[in-house]
Amino acid sequence: MRNTERIQTLVNEGATTDRIKEAAVEEGMVTILAYSLQLVQEGYTTLEEVERVTFTDTGLEAELKAKRKSSLECQTCKAELQPEWMDCPYCLTPRFANN
Ligand SMILES: [Zn+2]
Repeated sequence: MRNTERIQTLVNEGATTDRIKEAAVEEGMVTILAYSLQLVQEGYTTLEEVERVTFTDTGLEAELKAKRKSSLECQTCKAELQPEWMDCPYCLTPRFANN
C-alpha cells in the first residue's frame, strides 16, 4: 500500500487520529480498522484510540449507510428496493445494470 506513506508521515508528525483517519479516507483506504490495528502493533497508537476512532466514527458509518442505501435504490426511477429484489418492480430496471 504505497498510499500509506502520507499517513505514515502524519503519524510520525504526531497528527491527531482524526487527521490520520481523514487522510486514510482521502486515500481511499477501506481497511482503516486493519491499518489501525497495525499501528497499534507498531506502537504508534493504542487500542483505545483505534476503538474511539473506528467504532465511534459516525461519519464513516454514515458513509457506509449512504453506500448501502444507494445500492438499494433504483438507478432509473430512484424507488427504494428491497435487498432481495434483483430488479426494480416499478420500471423493471435490473438492480446491477450499470455496476
Ligand atoms: Zn425503477
